[in-house]
Amino acid sequence: IDMVPTSITGLLHHVISLIETQAILMNVQIYFKAHEDLPLVSCVDSQLKQVFINLLKNAIEAMPDGGNVYISIKTEDDELVVSFKDEGCGIPFEKLPSLGEPFFTTKEKGTGLGLMVCYKIIEDHGGRIQVKSEPGKGSTFKVALPVTLPRL
Ligand code: ADP
Ligand code: MG
Repeated sequence: IDMVPTSITGLLHHVISLIETQAILMNVQIYFKAHEDLPLVSCVDSQLKQVFINLLKNAIEAMPDGGNVYISIKTEDDELVVSFKDEGCGIPFEKLPSLGEPFFTTKEKGTGLGLMVCYKIIEDHGGRIQVKSEPGKGSTFKVALPVTLPRL
């Protein structure tokens, strides 16, 4: 499959437009802030979209009474870091290692496959996913991806 240098900002705008109606129905407001002139990332854009859709849906589902999701993109060293911060139920510390495992779910109708797919795709792209969470306060999922170096 072709890895194509891609604007992650553009890709996220598209993902947010796909999810926005559902978010509004759930009383969730999505805020998105990206710096200008961010570097491109080599990716299979359909796969990265899948990752961002899964993370955004999890953030929304973590806030059954509504709330805010904050999405931001920035560069850190040679990586682009996309962060999804929610104000949801959070994840107990002892559950963090189970997150990428297939069929780990705490939802009545969950599959427990979303994050496993996310981890696999990001690993295939040479990146990683970091999770921070405070039960009762919210969670932050950070996706770090290597940036495409400009050709000399
Ligand atoms: P599913 O959404 O089908 O349950 P996932 O693999 O996407 O499967 O997520 C697995 C589990 O991780 C969820 O059931 C939930 O317990 C936890 N989780 C994932 N994202 C969040 C989040 N943003 N806030 C709280 N818990 C989360
Ligand atoms: Mg999910």
